Amino acid sequence: MVRALLLVAVCVSSAGLLGLAVSADSISEQARKLHFSSIVVDTHDDTTQRFLDGKFDLGTRSSSGSIDIPRMRDGNLSAIFFSIWMPSKVTGSEAVNRALVQIDAVREQVRRHPKDLVLATTAAEIREARKQGKIAALMGVEGGHMINSDLGVLRSYAALGVRYMTLTHSGNDEWADSSTDKPAHNGLTDFGKDVVRELNRLGVMVDISHVSDKTFYDALEVSKAPLLASHSSCRAICNAARNMTDQMMKDLAAKGGVVQINYHVGFLSQEFRDAENANPELDKARSAELVKRCGDNQGCQILEGDRITREYVEQGKLPRVDFTKIIEHIDHAVKVAGIDHVGLGSDFDGANMPYGMEDAAKLPKITEALLQKGYSEGDVKKILGENTLRVMTEVEGVSRELNSGK
Ligand SMILES: [Zn+2]
Repeated sequence: MVRALLLVAVCVSSAGLLGLAVSADSISEQARKLHFSSIVVDTHDDTTQRFLDGKFDLGTRSSSGSIDIPRMRDGNLSAIFFSIWMPSKVTGSEAVNRALVQIDAVREQVRRHPKDLVLATTAAEIREARKQGKIAALMGVEGGHMINSDLGVLRSYAALGVRYMTLTHSGNDEWADSSTDKPAHNGLTDFGKDVVRELNRLGVMVDISHVSDKTFYDALEVSKAPLLASHSSCRAICNAARNMTDQMMKDLAAKGGVVQINYHVGFLSQEFRDAENANPELDKARSAELVKRCGDNQGCQILEGDRITREYVEQGKLPRVDFTKIIEHIDHAVKVAGIDHVGLGSDFDGANMPYGMEDAAKLPKITEALLQKGYSEGDVKKILGENTLRVMTEVEGVSRELNSGK
């Protein structure tokens, strides 16, 4: 989820936008075979916000947003991490209550669609889901503010199936600094380090997307398991504090971690970012319009925000960003961090998607583009999902070891 209201701008494929996408027919036979024989994992989707209004059903093909079961099938999205998210300013017991409502909403979607979905908590369960022809649904908590500084709450989330926690969202929490807030803790506090240790013990991935550089390095030092950046792109290409520097990606990789490239145009394209920064009035106008249309309904803001942003692009007020920019970031991250340390973390239904990657049905185009760039089939499989599965397996191994009392 990008910072709500300030950056909201979202991914929608309205009927009109769908027409812009390359049709599935344009994918080569090799790319199609490779893509549909691979396990494709996406570690960050904000569709959960849409579950909350009670009307949205994941089983019905929708003409808005990016994620539903039919389109996940079209794009062979095999495992999806639904984000449990709320703004950083929501804290205390209210944050816990709202997180529990969202966890329940994800679990209910799985329960309603037993033929298509299965709740998964391990790499092996993702592979098993695949064998059964089902999509694995997983959960990640996006922001440490939701544990109310209580390791017991964290343990409860883990027991309910949460398998990563982003240490912060856009604002600092009580024990960790965010990349988009003024430093308050010099990275992780002592309690923040305890959170990382408990995540390791629980077998929940430590997610360093959104955190400040210092928080990242503190987590890297403390964590016994590889780290996950569930939805972060490359700062060398687009200078957003949310993106990772080359050095951070190298250091993440040296300890076995993986960076999952985010498709949000404001994190992919410096040109888009510069245009937004040069015209703050546009952002203000969009924010005001969103409140008018949606109040604080995040699911509504997601869809309307994208609609407005795409209008700005069509009107020439913001530059158009194409999905090939995702490939540029993947390629850069691979050159810097290595082929074993890069994956996909779309931010679908929570950010502003580039042209050509409006929804999950477009995912085979990533496989096609990587093959065209000269990537081997084995390397493409790693990026599509195998790297994430490897990190999950290692995190599970560290958890077993820590619990064995060795
Ligand atoms: Zn996010």
